[in-house]
Amino acid sequence: MIVDLTDYGFIPTMMPEGVNAVPARVTAVHKERYEIICEYGQTFGRLKAGIYYGDGYESFPTVGDFVLIQYNFSGDSLIIKTLERKSKFARNDFSGHAAGFVKTVKEQLVAANFDYVFIMASLNRDFNLKRIERYLTLAWQSGAIPVVVLTKADLMEDFAENVRAVEKIAPGVGVYPVSAKTGYGIDKLSDYLKPRKTIVFLGSSGVGKSSLVNALAGEEIMAVNEIREDDSRGRHTTTHRQLIKLPNGVIVIDTPGMRELGMWDVNTGLDEAFTDVKGYLGKCRFSDCRHKTEPGCAIKEAIANGELSEERWKSYQQIMREAKFAENKSVFLHDKSKRDKAIAQFSKQINSKRRAGNQADRDVFY
Ligand code: GDP
Ligand code: ZN
Repeated sequence: MIVDLTDYGFIPTMMPEGVNAVPARVTAVHKERYEIICEYGQTFGRLKAGIYYGDGYESFPTVGDFVLIQYNFSGDSLIIKTLERKSKFARNDFSGHAAGFVKTVKEQLVAANFDYVFIMASLNRDFNLKRIERYLTLAWQSGAIPVVVLTKADLMEDFAENVRAVEKIAPGVGVYPVSAKTGYGIDKLSDYLKPRKTIVFLGSSGVGKSSLVNALAGEEIMAVNEIREDDSRGRHTTTHRQLIKLPNGVIVIDTPGMRELGMWDVNTGLDEAFTDVKGYLGKCRFSDCRHKTEPGCAIKEAIANGELSEERWKSYQQIMREAKFAENKSVFLHDKSKRDKAIAQFSKQINSKRRAGNQADRDVFY
């Protein structure tokens, strides 16, 4: 055994019983080829067609997935199963699949099986509470634990106010100002930086994800995308998602930014991300209160006496609207995929009848 997969977060009980296959973890995804790591080391894998395509409903692997493979010593291994995920980031593909005839709408996964989501935002000009709120919603929804990391602390004289503002919108979440440049605050993250734990990074390009990973690793393992602070714009360096084990045993996954993740189906994360707002809901005098001009509105009162900020309430409403929109879209696509399936089944029946018919014709003929 060259590699102990448990060092990559694998837990032996994940292995289904009675299956003769090798467990592996996906470390990078290319078009049709997967970089995987298993007890024989780093290798490549391809999906077994009958399982993932055609009638198969096996979920396509993504970075961080644990899979089962038929190991091939002399070429690409065959991936035969995606093991159950404990956490995931998904976005839905409204394009290709939905237009397809028989294809169902498969969610497109961005990362899987991570323990912590490091929500990264820089303390300088990029600082945006709304964006952090969105990331928190996504993070809660993923099934992992969010942590807010405020970067570039060295560029700010005083960031206490920013930290407090984030703490207010992130109830129950750790908020850590750090600097990859000076090393400030990085030791405070040690609770999360444990061997076999997987961390995923969420944040816009240029916030300092690669720099933080390098600081955690103690070496230059990711390309830092040098930007001029005066325009805060960065070039894209990370082109494919990847999973890396740092020298201290922590596993990190680098994902593309929020823009690509989208606001798909945020509902499940909303409750946790807005516990403060939820605390006032249902407390209004009228049960059908629209929180506008009604007397005895708990939301309006909370805003009036400063317990709840107007901004926070607006964010909540905005995110609810988007979630609703995504949900409607999802229901639509879901129904459509049901319709497509019914049509496909019908045409299959017709075809098999036709084939049976042809067979019968031949039987008569010969
Ligand atoms: P990524 O796109 O999120 O991976 O960001 P990078 O790590 O590539 O960093 C983007 C830019 O921010 C680079 O110019 C870094 O040198 C700079 N940067 C990253 N972290 C810090 C920090 O803690 N302090 C300062 N002053 N600059 C930083
Ligand atoms: Zn109300």
